[in-house]
Amino acid sequence: MAEDPSAPPLARAGDGAATNEDWFARAQAVIPGGVDSPVRSFASVGGTPFTVVRGEGPYVWDVEGTRFLDFVQSYGAILLGHAHPVVRDAISAASAHGTTFGMPTPGEVLLAGDICSRVPGCERVRLVSSGTEAAMSALRLARGITGRDRVVKFDGCYHGHGDALLTGSGSGVAQLGLPGSAGVTKASVADTLVVPYNVVPDLDDSVACVIVEPVAANMNLVPPAEGFLRGLRSACDAVGALLIFDEVITGFRLGAGGATAMTGVTPDLWCFGKVIGGGLPVGAFGGRAELTASLAPTGPVYQAGTLSGNPLATAAGHAVMEHVTAADLTDLTERAGHFAAHLEAAITEGGLGARATAVGPLVGLLVSPPGERPLVPTDLGAARAAASSPVYARLFHALVARGVAFPPGPYEVLFPGLAHDDGHLDDAVAAAGDAASEVATHWS
Ligand SMILES: *Cc1c(COP(=O)(O)O)cnc(C)c1O
Repeated sequence: MAEDPSAPPLARAGDGAATNEDWFARAQAVIPGGVDSPVRSFASVGGTPFTVVRGEGPYVWDVEGTRFLDFVQSYGAILLGHAHPVVRDAISAASAHGTTFGMPTPGEVLLAGDICSRVPGCERVRLVSSGTEAAMSALRLARGITGRDRVVKFDGCYHGHGDALLTGSGSGVAQLGLPGSAGVTKASVADTLVVPYNVVPDLDDSVACVIVEPVAANMNLVPPAEGFLRGLRSACDAVGALLIFDEVITGFRLGAGGATAMTGVTPDLWCFGKVIGGGLPVGAFGGRAELTASLAPTGPVYQAGTLSGNPLATAAGHAVMEHVTAADLTDLTERAGHFAAHLEAAITEGGLGARATAVGPLVGLLVSPPGERPLVPTDLGAARAAASSPVYARLFHALVARGVAFPPGPYEVLFPGLAHDDGHLDDAVAAAGDAASEVATHWS
């Protein structure tokens, strides 16, 4: 592989640690499992993760200088593509003035304003540093407001790794085939009820809140059935429970107003993350002013953070929010729809079974052995059945060999973004067709 002259020095050949194998061995010596988040491991597809040194637009480069057309895009934290000049400029300008103060800053006001002005009904948001924190805090707020303990979540929805929500989880938890996590006490999930997605549960007045991914994107891609979200709204209203939309993936990606604007269903509280940080660590939670008034310092629900509303992170997030237009997202949705259709056709033509679904710009891909076709998943059971085939792992590696990075597990969605033009999407479709025919030929 030719040496990449613009790669950081450590990535260059000849420093004794230039291969992905070397880097991953070093990582395993100092980081548990060699990764800082389990979804990044290749546990469910096998092999050694490549170690990334840089990205530009839709591409990333590993330490060996290999370029990949990237559909992971930091699991949806990147919308404009890697190292976008608008984001880089915002971060470097902010960094010149200091990185954190522990005092109010204009950047957090601007980013909170971006969120509230786009999401109908969301009047106040508090900024935190991750989606996990947003969901944990929204839960505490709902419990504090209602004075109730019970929480209802849906099997296969992922809301970060806070104890109370780390059961029946999607993403890495589903990928590793875990029911939940060791170290989470029975007591901390005793008040969490896990129910199947797309079925409106019976609630009673012990329920503080129902938390849902309005489009489920951590168990592959499962769209809400007609009437599901509206049904949740009425069920919550009937017993005085709060409805929480976890829009950490869908927010400012499905469309300018996220799932709320798209579905016409307005929750009481929202969680945001990923896109709003422009690739830096930001989460947010909020809702109607009357509800968020229960947060300290104005109310009794405590929540805090030394780096919350961090100036670099809010500068990056605000730059993305200002740069991306509603028309950009409409256009991306249209292109993602075509991409899904072409991807499914190419893989099928290559000889494997495939189903690719798009909701907004989110694309879910399920694959199966030749002669079968994955069913449309409506809940985790169906998603598991479709995702359990070893075909995905084979296709994943065949794509990696062709310079295309899909997520290293079938429970994650593909994130075509604003840096992927039609040519990039066509390249991925061609690679997928070619990869599928290689896998199908050797299938036994
Ligand atoms: C990624 C994700 C989270 C957790 O966000 P982190 O920033 O990884 O803590 C929460 N909810 C949903 C829907 C997510 O996709």
